[in-house]
Amino acid sequence: VETCATVAAMRATAARLRQGGRRLALVPTMGALHDGHLALLAAARARADAVVVSIFVNPTQFGDPRDLALYPRSEAADAALLAGAGADALFLPAAAEIYPPGDETIVETTRLAGVFHGARRPGHFRGVATVVCKLFNIVAPDLAIFGEKDYQQLAVVRRLVRDLHLPVEIVAVPTVRAADGLALSSRNARLAPEDRAAAAVLARALDRAQALAAAGAPVEDLHEALRATVAAEPRARLVGLDIVDAEDFAPVQGRLTRRAGIMLSAEVGGVLLLDQREVDPPAGDR
Ligand code: AMP
Repeated sequence: VETCATVAAMRATAARLRQGGRRLALVPTMGALHDGHLALLAAARARADAVVVSIFVNPTQFGDPRDLALYPRSEAADAALLAGAGADALFLPAAAEIYPPGDETIVETTRLAGVFHGARRPGHFRGVATVVCKLFNIVAPDLAIFGEKDYQQLAVVRRLVRDLHLPVEIVAVPTVRAADGLALSSRNARLAPEDRAAAAVLARALDRAQALAAAGAPVEDLHEALRATVAAEPRARLVGLDIVDAEDFAPVQGRLTRRAGIMLSAEVGGVLLLDQREVDPPAGDR
């Protein structure tokens, strides 16, 4: 797979890949690739003629320098994996390439960046929106693929594409999970074995909430069941729990009348884990 380290090289490669009207897809990642990323790549290949994968551990979306320093990196293994999985090019820029000296321009979804997960991580979604906008401007893809796992991130990206009239189609891919339900994440590599087993509590809690929603339970019952399930796992500490309307991302209360998204985050063994589930009310309540 052809690796581009500079903006100029990436632009030239992307232009070549688009030649003759070929559709180009971008899969933005932070590396330490796993089967979740490969599902995004497969979705890209199914919809486009050529695929660029970017690996960039974006410093502006990390609030905590320690978290940034600890973020897993495995670029050589990632490049080998991408070659086998059929990526056409890998964009692997240095931070100074993306944020040139004196860089001062930001992109922010003003409401969405500051609520839910964003309220607990100030600046995070500004960093995400800014880097995604830069990547779209460099690669100029026809479509870009994101995981549902980072549910609010997906909403932020959709909003910025709509508001800034960016000519990119956004495709969402369902969360890929381990056998015990744990959502695959690069951060899982940092879990000690006992914590890895405990981490499955997030998916169990979401399963319970989904069953309650399907039985017509009000949102308050879902909150309670999610909290109780996470609290029963001594190695886990609940960090965030938000249940929002899947369309407009406003918090929901009472009985569901349409699809909602649950965003759950918990710390296990010092590692922040995120998971998400879309839930529907029973057919009769819709
Ligand atoms: P990351 O490298 O963690 O920033 O993730 C890059 C992209 O892969 C994002 O769009 C994520 O939502 C997506 N992703 C990460 N983990 C998964 C997963 N387990 N299933 C599906 N998509 C994922």
